[in-house]
Amino acid sequence: MDFNDTPEEAAFRAEARAWLEANAEPLADGEQPEMGENLSPENVAAAKAWQKKKADAGWACITWPREYGGRGATPMENVIWNEEQAKFKTPGDIFSIGIGMCGPTVMAHGTPEQQARWIPKLLSGEEVWCQLFSEPSAGSDLAGLRTTAVKDGDEWVVNGQKIWTSGAQICEWGILVVRTDPTVVKHAGLSYFVVNMKSPGIEIRPITQINKAQGFNEVFFTDVRIPDDQRLSEVGNGWAVALTTLMNERQSIGSGMGVGSLEDLVDFAAGIEIDGKPALEDSAVRERIADYVTKARGLKNTSLRTLTALSKGLPPGPEASMGKLVGAVLQQEAASFAMDLAGASGALLDADATPDAAAWQERYLSLPGLRIAGGTDEILRNIIAERVMGLPSDARADKGIAFKDIPTGPPQ
Ligand SMILES: Cc1cc2nc3c(=O)[nH]c(=O)nc-3n(C[C@H](O)[C@H](O)[C@H](O)COP(=O)(O)OP(=O)(O)OC[C@H]3O[C@@H](n4cnc5c(N)ncnc54)[C@H](O)[C@@H]3O)c2cc1C
Repeated sequence: MDFNDTPEEAAFRAEARAWLEANAEPLADGEQPEMGENLSPENVAAAKAWQKKKADAGWACITWPREYGGRGATPMENVIWNEEQAKFKTPGDIFSIGIGMCGPTVMAHGTPEQQARWIPKLLSGEEVWCQLFSEPSAGSDLAGLRTTAVKDGDEWVVNGQKIWTSGAQICEWGILVVRTDPTVVKHAGLSYFVVNMKSPGIEIRPITQINKAQGFNEVFFTDVRIPDDQRLSEVGNGWAVALTTLMNERQSIGSGMGVGSLEDLVDFAAGIEIDGKPALEDSAVRERIADYVTKARGLKNTSLRTLTALSKGLPPGPEASMGKLVGAVLQQEAASFAMDLAGASGALLDADATPDAAAWQERYLSLPGLRIAGGTDEILRNIIAERVMGLPSDARADKGIAFKDIPTGPPQ
């Protein structure tokens, strides 16, 4: 593997940087890019404007095929774009679900009419999308979901509840998996729809998280009507469509985990004092940080192996399953160490009182979510055990049983 840009990649980097320099303000020394989703009205407006600007110049959705308005860029060029964009002040990202998961699913399973209706406004940032999959008793076991859709003429009537729906409160559209046939095994009775989030009968209740943010929601459906022409793929084929979404979800969450935030840890330790000297000069601190950075570099190189495979048109190898599992734990440990270094101020989540330490607190409190979203640590270990190592599969007590016959309460 060659770590240097090829001449084509170097040219792409120069072009990306030139456009960014002409259209955005560089981050000041030590300033961090906006982390994660920010759902304030100001950020939503700024993020939509930034997305539109990129779309007009051909820098939005750069890995999407050209026929859908993308740039047809390679995975490696996407990494280069992200590296360059991270050096500039840009609004918090509100499009990751739409661009990373919903768009590719509509491209793979939508009719030409559906694609023409949804893709352009997703690309230009006019419309924001969310993912309505998880339910109170269906997360890891997504195919056990209980929200139903019943056909009525040219429409479907949806009833049930979704939960953990990121960004639902600011979205125009959502991708929705529902049960349309409870008389067959659980995976076979699902169908997949695109729902207008402003439809009558949808109630969105934000959930306040440990870090005080309201990033996700409960979404209740009461007799919500969805036109049949908003169904993706055949009735009963929802699981196959959902797998396309989930595959894209894991790819977009797993990539990008790694060394970035640990460079901040080095800067942070350089600015904090222990016994009158910068913490970074303390040998125990140096050893710990070196350990994290070594692991992060290993992760980055592992993800580059995946990219090399993708660039050569090969399927990603087993290493693709490791990014989120290893990276999220590593980031959590590093954030915890930074809070220890900050001493008493590490306990404060008040950006006015302790701007630097509060940023680590904020990160520490957000990271458990990353170990759950898009597949928990345990589920990722199951995937590695079964699909990578070839170990026997997890016991599945409901195998071969029609969904309606799966016991849901204590034995009678
Ligand atoms: C920040 C965040 C954002 C999210 N955004 C969205 C979103 O936008 N849309 C959406 O639909 N969902 C979203 N989710 C939900 C997410 O997909 C689920 O939380 C996740 O799939 C786990 O499901 P669950 O919460 O129901 O936990 P459960 O599946 O009930 O798991 C509970 C515990 O049991 C363990 N467990 C479960 N099954 C097994 C098994 N077979 N073997 C071993 N251990 C097991 C799990 O690892 C976990 O520790 C989000 C979650 C988070 C944290």
